Amino acid sequence: MTVHVPFRAAFLNVFALFALAFVPVAPSHAQDPQRPYSAPSNQIRFGNTALFRNLIPSATLETQAAQEYVQILREAEHNKTLLNDDNALVKRARDIVNREIPFALKWNDRSKQWKWEINVVKSNEIRMYCLPGGKIVIYSGLIDKLHLNDNEIGMMAGHEIAHALREHARERLGRQQAAQLFSGTVPQLFGYVDMGSTQLGIGEQLLAMRYSPADETEADVIGSEIASRAGYDPRAAITLWNKIDTATRRSDNGFIWMHPYGSERKQDLLKRMPDMMPLYAKAIGKTIDQLPAYAGMGRFKKNGR
Ligand SMILES: [Zn+2]
Repeated sequence: MTVHVPFRAAFLNVFALFALAFVPVAPSHAQDPQRPYSAPSNQIRFGNTALFRNLIPSATLETQAAQEYVQILREAEHNKTLLNDDNALVKRARDIVNREIPFALKWNDRSKQWKWEINVVKSNEIRMYCLPGGKIVIYSGLIDKLHLNDNEIGMMAGHEIAHALREHARERLGRQQAAQLFSGTVPQLFGYVDMGSTQLGIGEQLLAMRYSPADETEADVIGSEIASRAGYDPRAAITLWNKIDTATRRSDNGFIWMHPYGSERKQDLLKRMPDMMPLYAKAIGKTIDQLPAYAGMGRFKKNGR
C-alpha cells in the first residue's frame, strides 16, 4: 500500500506546525499603545498563527462561508425574516458598510476580489458577522434593541470586517483541525485531505466562533481605523461595546462571549483614540478642535486631551 501523498503532505504540515511551536514570538504592536498599529507580517506570531491558518486554504474557507451564507438567507427567506432591499434598515446598513469597504481592502489582498454582500435578518438576536469572503449578516435586534446610532453601527461593522480581513476564523478553525489531526482522528484527516471543500463542515463552526483577546484587539484597532477613515466616530466603539456587554453578558454563548470584552480591552480602545480621532476628523472635513464631545468623552488630542 502506498501512502496517499496529500495525506503525507498534511501530516508533515501538522508535524512542522508542532515542531515550531516553541519558536519565540516577537511582541505584537497590538499590545503596545504607544506605537501606531501595523498588521503583523505573515510570519510566525501569536503562537504560530500563520501555520495554523495555512491548514485551511483561504479559497476553501471562503467557498464554505459562501455556502453557509446562502443557507442562512434561504432559511430567513423561508421564515419571512429576510428584510428586502427597500427596507430602511437594510439601506442604512448597506450605506454604512459600503462607505467602509474601500478602506478595508488594503488589509487583505484577496478582499479586493471578494463579492461583498450585506443582508439584515429580522430577529431579536443581538448579533452580526462578516464571514470570510465578505458576506455580512446583521440581526435586526443588534440595531433595534440597542438603539445603535450610525457611528456605533460603523464601529461594529469595522470590527467584524477586520476579523474577516485578518482571517481570524481561518486560524481558529486551523487550530481545531490541528488538534483533531494530532489526536489521531484519522477519518478527520482523510476528511480534510480527500473530501475537500464540501465535507469540512465548518460552516456551522463559523457561526459559533469564539475569538481570542489578541484577535479582539486586532479587530478593534483595524476596525476602528477602517470606520474612522469612512467618517464614523471612533468614540462610538466605547458606547457600542458597553451596550453589547450589558445586553449579552448573561447569555452562555452570546455576542460578548464570542467577542470577549473586559476592562483591559476597553482601556486599549481608549488608548488608541488619539490615533483614530484625526482620521475621523479628516474624513468629515473638520479639525479635531471642531469635533463636539461624544457621550461625555472629549477630543482625545494626540498630546493630552
Ligand atoms: Zn470581535
